[in-house]
Amino acid sequence: MKKQLFALALCTPFMAKPVWAQVDLLIKNTTVISPQNQQKVDIKSNHWVAINGNRIVSIGSDKNLPKAKHIVDGTGKFLIPGLMDSHTHLKTMPGLNPADNNASIMQQAYLARQGVNYLYYGVTQVIDPSNTQQGIDAFHDSGMTPKAFFCGAMPVVNGYNARGIEHEHLHYERPYYVAQDTDPETPKVIKEAHQAKQAVNRLSEDGAVCAKVYIEDGFDLAKNIPLISNATLKELTQHAAKLNLPTMAHANATDMQDIAADHGVTIMGHGLWNWLEEQKLSNQEQLPPKVTAVLDKIIERNIAYQPTLNVIRGLTDLMVDGHLMRPEYQNVLPQWQLDWYLSESGQWFAKEMYQDWDGLPVAKIVERFTAKQVNGQRVLNYLYEHGATILLASDTPPAPTYASQPGLSTYMELQDMYKSGMKLKGILAAATINNAKAYNLEHDFGSVDSGKMANLLLLNSNPLETPLAYDDINTVILQGKASTRDLFHVSQLKQVKH
Ligand SMILES: [Zn+2]
Repeated sequence: MKKQLFALALCTPFMAKPVWAQVDLLIKNTTVISPQNQQKVDIKSNHWVAINGNRIVSIGSDKNLPKAKHIVDGTGKFLIPGLMDSHTHLKTMPGLNPADNNASIMQQAYLARQGVNYLYYGVTQVIDPSNTQQGIDAFHDSGMTPKAFFCGAMPVVNGYNARGIEHEHLHYERPYYVAQDTDPETPKVIKEAHQAKQAVNRLSEDGAVCAKVYIEDGFDLAKNIPLISNATLKELTQHAAKLNLPTMAHANATDMQDIAADHGVTIMGHGLWNWLEEQKLSNQEQLPPKVTAVLDKIIERNIAYQPTLNVIRGLTDLMVDGHLMRPEYQNVLPQWQLDWYLSESGQWFAKEMYQDWDGLPVAKIVERFTAKQVNGQRVLNYLYEHGATILLASDTPPAPTYASQPGLSTYMELQDMYKSGMKLKGILAAATINNAKAYNLEHDFGSVDSGKMANLLLLNSNPLETPLAYDDINTVILQGKASTRDLFHVSQLKQVKH
């Protein structure tokens, strides 16, 4: 017994010392900004952060720095968690025209570069709400990329995101689709195999971090799309909750978000910009009562909210002359892609949009879109002021629009959140800890803490002082490896000919 005690005593002085002889990376003399929630952020000046492998192993301020293979001097800089964008679509080049002769070559060249575009703007984690493990593996294999996660898309037969897809193709294209009892055309055997519970089980086993549902009966006042039934939705969200999976809803109209809030959805996947018949009250200072009623439910039930201001912005900018000439596009687009967007073929979606509006003058179309964008901004402001949990979610790209490019689109979303009145502390939380918590990823991401993954950003400016700090990135630390930001600039990439 005595011997053991002696051994223990002998061990103590060694245990007090760091257990590593030398760490892989040390970021020294920096201001560590670690968000806790929308109100609270930990700020530690003159600290160092030690990283071994892909994890943070220690954070301190002692003068005795750990020995390190690589040292990054953080003097005068700010260390924050890498950004998480929880609404990205990783499978297709924005604005691609499938009918173009070079479509597949352009698509390949784009996919080989996509991850780097995100990293240039400091996005080190992305979530694709409609993908599969194979799709995520392909994304990771494409080169240097953010860490990606996926949700299983659960459209109903012939419903939004499954319209026009026959049963036999649906099985491959939307493996987690749901067949409802109420659907008269679906054979009984398919109904049995595609009940909500089974589809949730399947996506959970496949490694999805959430279940994505679609609550959409048609745009604006239209009611032309089969809607998920309340019973199916409830069964689905309850079963997902049992498996500890969040349910994220596509819904952007007052009535649709109301259904989502009433039936156990945990993440609203879009902003509430379609106010339907309440739009006539939009000029009043107060939000229309029906809109407020839905927002109060979102707050009360603690449903996380993705403003996705980029959706309407990305469509509006398609109609703004010279939009692609904005200098930021030079950071993410190679010349061939820019040239193609400006070509006859590259303008296909813009033309389609004009046609949809039956010859309405461009200025009028822009006016209509702007009204929706103002709705979305006012709703975000109300929710934020009343303490709702806001998530950074760019929905890149929301439609085949070239005005939504990976990374840059996330950055534009942050700027629009700021313009809507969110405080910088809230924006930082939305971009990091809130997303990590909403998708059960906080053991690895969301703050600068020992044990977490070393996906971090070293900024030249303070993100609690200016939203432009997110475009003033000095170093991106990905899985414990530090790279200066310019390495991810599109001009640094080997040009792929097409
Ligand atoms: Zn989306």
